[in-house]
Amino acid sequence: MNRKALFLDRDGIINEEKDYVHKIEDFEFMAGIFEVLRHAQASGYLLIVVTNQAGIARGYYSEEDFHSLNNWMIGRFQEKGIKIDKVYYCPYHPTHGIGKYLKDSEFRKPGPGMIQQAAKEFGIDPAQSLLVGDKESDIEAGKTAGIGKNILLKSSRYDGWGTKADTVIENLQEVIPFLK
Ligand SMILES: [Mg+2]
Repeated sequence: MNRKALFLDRDGIINEEKDYVHKIEDFEFMAGIFEVLRHAQASGYLLIVVTNQAGIARGYYSEEDFHSLNNWMIGRFQEKGIKIDKVYYCPYHPTHGIGKYLKDSEFRKPGPGMIQQAAKEFGIDPAQSLLVGDKESDIEAGKTAGIGKNILLKSSRYDGWGTKADTVIENLQEVIPFLK
């Protein structure tokens, strides 16, 4: 348990938040994301994505749709020399899930399940790790999992008022100084 990781929310951090993004044509990389991930990788951080995918639970798109977009995303990072170590996603929703997707899961943020699973699989020390998210549920998940620095990126939807985040930033490049 001594590796360090940069945990990343997907929608609103890797790509622009547009509500239930599941098609390549709607997937728009955020300004600065390649630069931040290149720095993180060079500084020895594993790159782990943790994303709630309630759109699957709600029947808006399938797990296959998610995986094809995900593979495309990983390929775009690879082209830039960036290796995403793993993407964890939670397809469940506690009240709006259909069929098997109706489930109250600790893997759904604010639950810490995805982060804890990654820590176990990769031998990550949460205390040495960072998390970047755009919602309070991201921050809560990181705090519960014991992540050392939980960073909130302000957005048009959430200005961080009342946040428990350790740091609030206005653009992604502000993550770089925290990568040590
Ligand atoms: Mg988000």
